[in-house]
Amino acid sequence: MPDKRRRRVTLEDYEREFSEREARDQGQLKYIAIHIVLLFAQLITLAVLYRTRSPYTYPFLGITVTSWLIVVVILLLRSLRCPNCGRFFPKGELVEFDTIGGKGDIFYGGEWQYHDGNKRIYWTECRHCGHLLWIVKGG
Ligand SMILES: [Zn+2]
Repeated sequence: MPDKRRRRVTLEDYEREFSEREARDQGQLKYIAIHIVLLFAQLITLAVLYRTRSPYTYPFLGITVTSWLIVVVILLLRSLRCPNCGRFFPKGELVEFDTIGGKGDIFYGGEWQYHDGNKRIYWTECRHCGHLLWIVKGG
């Protein structure tokens, strides 16, 4: 049963989440790099197959497109699920936590960054298990 009481979200919760996010992003960089290399390898293979009029051109194209679609669908499904209980559409009512606005340097995600615009930080709880979820909107 989700806890219906409104959670008191502290600055520590926020800082913990965004330092974890940063660590996760750093960890994902090498996977992104691998995928970019893979994409280029596939494009070069396709170009070679096409130039040599190979009968494998279209089957290879089909497999390549399908495999990328699967990657996109997996990422999409993951973003729609609660990281804690894994159920879909976890977002409850959004509660605004902070707005980082205007031009200038801000301390965000563990480092100083130049920022121009409005970034709104919200939190909410998973409707199924009550897990704290953070949502960032705007740039
Ligand atoms: Zn959940």
